[in-house]
Amino acid sequence: MLKLFKYLKPYLFPVIIAVGLLYLQVNTDLSLPDYMSKIVNTGIQQGGIEYPIPSVIRNSELKNIEKNLDDINLRHLQQIYKNSDSEKTFIDINGKLSEDFIIQFSKAFILSKNMGQLIEGQDNNVIIQIGISLVRAEYEVLGIDMQLLQSTFILKTGGMMLLMTLISVLCAVSVGFIGSKTAAGGARKIRSEIFEKVESFSSAEFDTFSTASLITRSTNDVTQIQTVIFMIIRMVIYAPLLGVGGFIRAMGKAPSMGWLIGLAVVILLTIIISVMSIAMPKFKKVQELVDKLNLVARENLSGLLVVRAFNRQKFEENRFDSVNKDLTATNLFISRTMVTLMPVIMLIMNGLSIAIIWVGSKQVSLGYMQVGDMMAFIQYAMQIVMSFMMLSMVFIFLPRASVSGKRIIEVLETESSIKDKKTTTPLPDKIKGEIEFTDVTFKYPGGEVDALSTISFIAKPGTTTAFIGSTGSGKSTIVNLIPRFYDVTSGQITLDGIDIRDLDQKTLRSTIGFVPQKNVLFSGTIESNLKYGNKNATKNDLERIVKVSQAHEFIKQKDEGFNFPISQDGTNVSGGQRQRLAISRALMKDASIYVFDDSFSALDFKTDATLRRELKDSIGGKTVIIVAQRVATIMNAEQIIVLDDGKIVGQGTHKELLQTCKEYIEIANSQLGLQE
Ligand code: ADP
Ligand code: MG
Repeated sequence: MLKLFKYLKPYLFPVIIAVGLLYLQVNTDLSLPDYMSKIVNTGIQQGGIEYPIPSVIRNSELKNIEKNLDDINLRHLQQIYKNSDSEKTFIDINGKLSEDFIIQFSKAFILSKNMGQLIEGQDNNVIIQIGISLVRAEYEVLGIDMQLLQSTFILKTGGMMLLMTLISVLCAVSVGFIGSKTAAGGARKIRSEIFEKVESFSSAEFDTFSTASLITRSTNDVTQIQTVIFMIIRMVIYAPLLGVGGFIRAMGKAPSMGWLIGLAVVILLTIIISVMSIAMPKFKKVQELVDKLNLVARENLSGLLVVRAFNRQKFEENRFDSVNKDLTATNLFISRTMVTLMPVIMLIMNGLSIAIIWVGSKQVSLGYMQVGDMMAFIQYAMQIVMSFMMLSMVFIFLPRASVSGKRIIEVLETESSIKDKKTTTPLPDKIKGEIEFTDVTFKYPGGEVDALSTISFIAKPGTTTAFIGSTGSGKSTIVNLIPRFYDVTSGQITLDGIDIRDLDQKTLRSTIGFVPQKNVLFSGTIESNLKYGNKNATKNDLERIVKVSQAHEFIKQKDEGFNFPISQDGTNVSGGQRQRLAISRALMKDASIYVFDDSFSALDFKTDATLRRELKDSIGGKTVIIVAQRVATIMNAEQIIVLDDGKIVGQGTHKELLQTCKEYIEIANSQLGLQE
């Protein structure tokens, strides 16, 4: 799956920005509990007074405090005097105050009030609390508005919280945006790579991957990858930062309760890992079942008429149902296993809160901890648990995506078995179009026996070479070797004396006008289908060609003429019309070799004859190769080759064969006998 990440390269820069934004988001998210504890501790409990040092104090009081400070701290104190008048002194407590100085000042303040016995052997926290109450008393004496002081502090801190939340939201939205863009862009790239790859596949590769599987791989599997790319960008950096940051800050608040978080995380991980180990093996199965569902659905949709004709709807429904049920059951199993996680995690989170309050409240009552700190600790603990949850989410999707990734890589790494050589032989400008087979033997990939053995013949320009033979005798196989849909197993095929494997595939195919046995039209119009053969064809070319292929009459009958819409697979024209359009398409091409694989079978005898006459006129000078069922179609060919079981059993003209080839005589008798 890692191999797929190379398609994200163009998004490297935005992703780096996203990482920066995530870092910012973690910091703002982690600052919130801290602000909250300030509101509780300072704002509510201490009336908005942060330090046990007053920002303004009567000179008389200050003198008393100074008496109780040692030299170093005294000097420190004098450094932060702002100004003083005859009555009071202002102190700059916004300057950096060291922890030690704060405690020493607090102690001195308490001692100056003769309350030393209160802090005998007490915790620093307690000292600070008493110090703060003295500050408050001092402010009251000075007539400062305590209410205003408190609300100002709370509003200020609350405002900061709002600001932080806003930044956090902005970061989250931006990262979401970058993440979606990257994931969708990467997915598009992967899809187009698959498509390009599949287009380069030869028939051999199509035989290995089923069409259904190729479709699932370029849709559903890519979507899985897209989802996981987004999750990685969104969570894989954010979650650990949040977890570690949260832990560090929580320990800063109450190190004595760290073990509670540790315990919760251990329990959480144990549960997540055991649930995952049950669900994981099913992910691969889901993808395979989606493949199968696609296969059955495709077969059914494209074979709908056959299914109806044989009244096999019930059978097909059952077949679909069984795959559908399998998929549903597997998905349900995974979902059910996964949903048990949620309540368990909630239980752990709430249990953890209770445990923290249980342990923490004792410490609060002993004065070791402030209420706000305990609350912040709970929030940090929740953030830590959340981060583990997010990571486990990623780990749920990762194995799924890695299954999909493997399936995509499988396609991308399959090399087409028919490849251009590094250095290809160029064709001369003027080519003759002579095709020669020399001892060609061919076996289909995965086939048991040779489909063709030791086939040798020459198809000369200006002549027609015809193939005849029973079905399965290898006629289509022979002509499919000419444009290199497959490569020969042994022997060679040459075009004007050049081995076709030395030619560039594009060049080779540009010299051939091919009408396959199975005619495929594309959705569009008659014109768009014909222009498939030559995109620069003019209206005149179209008119001329359809006259040759005998398609003009039925096109004329259509109101839209050449703009008649062709539906997918060309199902809205008859078999004969489809054949004539396919012939026209091949004739649009200015080729040197024309191949017609069983292209006249759907034509009536009269049209067949007219068409052949027209062909003689328009492409008579080219190399013509015809596969036919009817002797009548090929009677006049310069060379007829009779095939049986992949071997040549007769070769010559109609007349010669009638004397020499018993298979040909049999075919001719059965057909011409009827005709005459
Ligand atoms: P036809 O003379 O009817 O055109 P083909 O050339 O299509 O016969 O088929 C010749 C033989 O090759 C048949 O036995 C057929 O089963 C086999 N064959 C055809 N296509 C494939 C394929 N894609 N994979 C394996 N075997 C094939
Ligand atoms: Mg055939």
